[in-house]
Amino acid sequence: MSSYNSKYLAVDLTSGKTEAREIPGRWLRDYLGGVGLGTRLYLECARPGADTLGPDNPVVMARGPLSGTMAPASAGHAVVTRSPATGLLCGSVSFGLWSLALAGTGYDAVVITGAAASPVYLFIDDGRVHLRRADPLAGQGGPQTAAAIRRESGDSRVQVACTGPAGESLARLATIRDGHRLMHRGGAGAVLGAKKLKAVAVRGTRPVSVADIDAMRKAVLDLNTGWRQTAAGGGGLEPGECLLPGSGRCHLPARNYQQAIPGGAASLAAECAAKGRLIKTIACPACPVACQHVYRITDDPHSDEQVVLDNEALAALGPLCGMFHLPVILKALDLCHVYGLDPVSAGASVAWAMECFERGLLTSQDTNGLDLSFGSADGLVETTRRIGQLSGIGAVLAEGVLRAANGLGQGSGEWAMQVKGLEMAGCDPRTQPGLALRLAAGLRPPTLDGRDDPSATAADACREEDLAAAGDSLAICPNARRYFRDFPAEAARMYTLATGMPLNPAELRRAGERTNNLIKAIDIREGWQRPDDWLPPRLFREPLDTGEGAVVSEKDLTAAIDGYYRGRGWSAEGLVPGEKLAALGMDDLREMLKGNRHGAPPHTLR
Ligand code: SF4
Repeated sequence: MSSYNSKYLAVDLTSGKTEAREIPGRWLRDYLGGVGLGTRLYLECARPGADTLGPDNPVVMARGPLSGTMAPASAGHAVVTRSPATGLLCGSVSFGLWSLALAGTGYDAVVITGAAASPVYLFIDDGRVHLRRADPLAGQGGPQTAAAIRRESGDSRVQVACTGPAGESLARLATIRDGHRLMHRGGAGAVLGAKKLKAVAVRGTRPVSVADIDAMRKAVLDLNTGWRQTAAGGGGLEPGECLLPGSGRCHLPARNYQQAIPGGAASLAAECAAKGRLIKTIACPACPVACQHVYRITDDPHSDEQVVLDNEALAALGPLCGMFHLPVILKALDLCHVYGLDPVSAGASVAWAMECFERGLLTSQDTNGLDLSFGSADGLVETTRRIGQLSGIGAVLAEGVLRAANGLGQGSGEWAMQVKGLEMAGCDPRTQPGLALRLAAGLRPPTLDGRDDPSATAADACREEDLAAAGDSLAICPNARRYFRDFPAEAARMYTLATGMPLNPAELRRAGERTNNLIKAIDIREGWQRPDDWLPPRLFREPLDTGEGAVVSEKDLTAAIDGYYRGRGWSAEGLVPGEKLAALGMDDLREMLKGNRHGAPPHTLR
């Protein structure tokens, strides 16, 4: 089967043993790769009810099957594990050179179980595998860790995915940094930290085979032409365009969802005013979109300190914290890179603390004299640093807003803007019923491009989510999916040309549906219950300040969730019936998915 290596690397950190294992061909066909394959591999080795920060919570890193094949915007890999923030499965995709390097090692995935006795890093060097001591890397940030590993290996092409100091200290806001991006949400960095695994470094030199190289070349050329036409017709994001959601329907949350900015970017001057700091836009391998905006962090035009800013980080570290001054946002983002923090959750946690401060629930004594009002530059930057160091108020916030609000009490859960323990940021759902449903009950995060069709039905939501899961399994970048004229058909064709395995659009959707149902079934095994599919109280009780008086209607959301479960073929309680598993060809997983339901996390604050 071309493009696949059909092998994964199993690493048991407790024993230090590593082993190459075959991936059954059926798993590749059924789950494709990326998030789908990662979820199937996770199920294979996970123990139900295990502590998310214990040795029995595996981490799976799986490449997309198109990475290395010249298919555009497809150089991605997924990280799948159970989130220490939610207790549920989290699978996110990141794009860059790491997936290409993994493809070149001869593996499609790495499955990491157990925990090391002392800090190590994993180095997959083509066919050879090493577990190396990482004591000297302790406390190092992402850029320093990558540089040190490259120095040690003597090769600047080694690609490094690593956790930072926050992950080593088990902060639930910790992420994994790969390349220059912080993409993985839900505390994946803390899961690596709990395993005492500082980094996974890869150097792969084997070429990826493509089943029909000539047809692939032609298909990629056609796609690129179509993408240019889509962009020219206003259907996409031009390189260098303002980052924030630009649709008139999307309201950008500000001051911890107490305010909204209509039209998102249209009225936000920060990013556009900072053109002097924008150095360039860059692209991931084989991607014509080049959407990554590289900014200089300091005012010094000769400084080479730079950071890639994306729309979610900008929204969370910016308006959500009442901050509209880009240099401050960039400084806070830089600290997220230094400490390995998820910028969305870090920004949302600071925003929650700022509201607590303004309401008098947190005082200067709690903040060590820091002004934590909305819009305070010191408040944002210094609190981000303290989260990364787990010092003072930062140690509380590093647990995420759900746990922080549970600890502080005094009604602060009212403005803890999280769903199932994961912080929200991006578009405000109070004017967008479809977004409210996706945020409350969805299995794949909605994109933040502000497009929400008011006439969308629950069936549309299921279809979209299944396509999103298929896209995350092929590891086709969500930022680029809007450029496809017919995503299911074009993505399925690329897969067929790359692997030699025929796949039609219906089968592509089916693979996404299979993955979504598997994720849900694992979540149910881990204690998920219907009341978890809900939104923070503020969204139901406090109208938007934009004059529309919009709130999320409890009645409408309940009806939408009912419709969504029905559309999925689940029970009224949101459980996946055995017949559904059987219809998706997953009958053999029934026993594995029974498990227990102990250790359910305290998701709800109602
Ligand atoms: S669209 Fe942007 S993030 Fe996605 S692959 Fe292309 S350059 Fe990378």
